[in-house]
Amino acid sequence: MTVEQLTTHPNAPKLGRVALVGAGPGDPKLLTIKALKIIQNSDFILYDRLVSKEILELFPKNTLAIYVGKEKNHHSISQDKLNDLLVSKAKQGLNICRLKGGDSFIFGRGGEEMLKLKSAGIEVELVPGITAASGCTSYAGIPLTHRGISQGCTMVTAHGEKELNLNWEHVAKVDHTLVFYMGLSKSELISTQLQIHGMPANTPVAFIENGCCPNQRVIRGQLHELPLLAEREHVQSPALIIVGAVVHLADQLAWLSDKELPTQGHNEVQKLSA
Ligand code: SAH
Repeated sequence: MTVEQLTTHPNAPKLGRVALVGAGPGDPKLLTIKALKIIQNSDFILYDRLVSKEILELFPKNTLAIYVGKEKNHHSISQDKLNDLLVSKAKQGLNICRLKGGDSFIFGRGGEEMLKLKSAGIEVELVPGITAASGCTSYAGIPLTHRGISQGCTMVTAHGEKELNLNWEHVAKVDHTLVFYMGLSKSELISTQLQIHGMPANTPVAFIENGCCPNQRVIRGQLHELPLLAEREHVQSPALIIVGAVVHLADQLAWLSDKELPTQGHNEVQKLSA
């Protein structure tokens, strides 16, 4: 079936609704029950690159699912076309699941899509998901805050629309955990700028690559060697960068064994939803 062939049910309401659903960081067991129900009951699904293979396996076989992935510098469909598609299909009375990695409101353009939909008079439901900062650090045994070590956490995008325009001075001085999203290709910049603005060169750092997925890797080191670590360990996207003393706690708190990580063919989750 193609998206053009998807038509309204005879007794469909006049307008469908769009659910902006956060799929979490990869492990299907981290989907919310609400997210799973919407995946199973929508007329069609539009999903992004960061929705894991294991979650794709949960899509009902007879539901049309379209990849609208956002690889770096390459959108398989432009944001405008995507918005038009959402609006036109909702206007035909179809219920759409717009599935995004992590949480739609955290570096996920959820707000932008929601504004467009609401201004076109389409009803929108938002289902929060576990954002990468939370899911990946939990699976790595790195608490984002810890009494006596880190009183807070700042989530930062290392991706700028044109150039990265960050207040480095402020970021380097917050004296708590920093989590950089989309920072892999900016490792050099992050390391240099934080040090220039006073952060000690030996501040603990970690890359979490493919967090909460079967191939999760946690690579730890110090701030000054961040770009070196990325290169030496061939760190791949998606990866988060964690900066701060809490990274050391993984020595005592790492808990994950291979059997806890998702594998393909998630019968348990399917049973849950039956
Ligand atoms: N909305 C998403 C973030 C989208 S931005 C969320 O809330 O998590 C994309 C960036 O998120 C990636 O470049 C990477 O830095 C991070 N990311 C998302 N999923 C990840 C994962 N499973 N492991 C590591 N990093 C991840």
